[in-house]
Amino acid sequence: GSGKIYEIFRELTEGIEGITLEFAPHDKEAHDKVGVKKTGCQGFCELGPLVRIQKGGEVIQYVKVQPDDCREIFENTVLGDNVIQRLLYTKGDTHYTHPEEIPFIAKQTRIVLENCGKFDAESLDEYIAAGGFEALTKAMFEMTREEVIEEVDKSGLRGRGGGGFPCGKKWKQVARQKEEIRYVVCNGDEGDPGAFMDGSVMEGDPFKLIEGMMIAGYAVKARDGYIYVRAEYPMSVARLRHAIGLLEERGLLGDNILGTDFCFHLHINRGAGAFVCGEGSALTASIEGNRGMPRVKPPRTVEKGLWEKPTVLNNVETYANVPKIILQGADWYRTIGTAGSPGTKTFSLTGAIENTGLIEVPMGSTLRQIIFDIGGGLKEGAEFKAVQIGGPSGGCLTEKHLDEPLDFDSVKKFNAIVGSGGMVVMDTNTCMVEVARFFMSFTQRESCGKCVPCREGTKRMLEILEKIVNGQGELEDLDRLEELATMIRNMALCGLGKSAPLPVISTLNTFRDEYVEHIVDKK
Ligand code: SF4
Repeated sequence: GSGKIYEIFRELTEGIEGITLEFAPHDKEAHDKVGVKKTGCQGFCELGPLVRIQKGGEVIQYVKVQPDDCREIFENTVLGDNVIQRLLYTKGDTHYTHPEEIPFIAKQTRIVLENCGKFDAESLDEYIAAGGFEALTKAMFEMTREEVIEEVDKSGLRGRGGGGFPCGKKWKQVARQKEEIRYVVCNGDEGDPGAFMDGSVMEGDPFKLIEGMMIAGYAVKARDGYIYVRAEYPMSVARLRHAIGLLEERGLLGDNILGTDFCFHLHINRGAGAFVCGEGSALTASIEGNRGMPRVKPPRTVEKGLWEKPTVLNNVETYANVPKIILQGADWYRTIGTAGSPGTKTFSLTGAIENTGLIEVPMGSTLRQIIFDIGGGLKEGAEFKAVQIGGPSGGCLTEKHLDEPLDFDSVKKFNAIVGSGGMVVMDTNTCMVEVARFFMSFTQRESCGKCVPCREGTKRMLEILEKIVNGQGELEDLDRLEELATMIRNMALCGLGKSAPLPVISTLNTFRDEYVEHIVDKK
């Protein structure tokens, strides 16, 4: 829908004399010009297609725009000063004209997503005009490499891909290796069903990710960076390639950047749809052209990563945090979030929720704030039952967790993980045994088969879950599930296997009665 609407606006704009399409963002004379730009995801998926009209400092937000609405918008709001009320976001009796007033947006704290949905993601000028690459130049000309790493370490930034490992420590470990060749790798594989945060950053603000990677490259003396992008993200690949091309043309990427001895080349690798390639050693194996399978550690990626060289491996969201940390400092960053998990976290809100979409909130926000204040509660007055957090190998949180602050450490106490940030909200009509079966069938299918506990254990767990769902289970099956879950968690080789039983463990802990009901009632 958005593509069609973009084309209609282009045609409307072209047909009128005196109007230019040479729309320069942040241009002082932009008030007198009209231009159309295609942004990345604005986050408010439920209400798309979205059209933002910027007139001077004022922004008007239209939602659920259809092709037939475009001419009316153009004549009334672009050329005239009339707001079309029926296209505004409306809640109860309130019509919201400006995006910043809409509760879904107003209650977020956007650092990583600050430009998404506002900028033309293909315009380097727009990124630079808004302060883009100031962090890189600050790092290169005002800080030593050690100071850059120290600042990231002091900020307490933890890897947003799921593990939550301190980013600065990882960079330090790479920087102190004896090997001269080092690599910077970005995990953009984002394979969790229901997660689209990293894809949105790659599409909506590719320069921010690249700037973060370049700062990492400068800090650890790497000359090459690789972005491993999920197979299903062709738009991300296209926007990243476009961004890399523009930067190379301007001498901001390549050899002797800005006349210094810093050389950095960026390469893009496309995944092939294997969930396990989100695991560090499987991802680097895949970039090398080998089958994407995890390997035994040590050696760790920081010592022997890509092509057995020291490698900084972080995900998209982690790198996208770095420019702001360098520009505004670690102390500023620590004012957001919790002491143990500073900063923000992006989440994709999906399921039985009123406002599905992409959000960013300070670490330590509660589920209630996320699901009810930002997400608008459940659809059509349905009752909240649980939320699956952390992807297919995460866990279920329930009513009793609604007021717990969410961060990397707190969530672990409830047998769940923040993971990369997928959140699937479920109402009271959801069968939790079926949910556990669904996620187990996903991880079982994605198991690479290298180690027995995961390859065979997840298969046995899935068989038992299917038996129970089909009304052929026995009460002893619950003990078998728990036994297998413990064995897999303790013995699987990589994170995929270790966390695969989490949905079963957390649903067994909280919704055991539903398992028993399936068995006793044989339904
Ligand atoms: Fe492969 Fe599973 Fe073993 Fe990981 S735990 S190496 S995915 S078989």
